[in-house]
Amino acid sequence: MTSDEWASTPFPSYTEAQETEITRRSPVADVIGEHTSIHRLEDGAYRGACPFCNRPDTLEVFPETGRWRCSNCLETGDVMIFINKFLGLWRADAYKFLADRAGLNFEVGA
Ligand SMILES: [Zn+2]
Repeated sequence: MTSDEWASTPFPSYTEAQETEITRRSPVADVIGEHTSIHRLEDGAYRGACPFCNRPDTLEVFPETGRWRCSNCLETGDVMIFINKFLGLWRADAYKFLADRAGLNFEVGA
């Protein structure tokens, strides 16, 4: 691919329906548990090591709301924000990462 072709290639993005399906297939505790050590608590939430400040027991993950937060460094977000912060992937790339992880073979922009 020449640089001209690269520049004229539209930035790929998934449709809203594809993004919804990708998010549905990416449970927050499953995805985070693949990147840092967390364990399930009695109330259904998870606790474990925060990969952002490296404290062993400050990350909390809430499957019911799909959100996570760290009580030490105060980083917080949903599964997309975790992938963005942890892997440095922005929107389309983060969705692509999660789609591949979930085994979804969506064509971008189809
Ligand atoms: Zn932290």
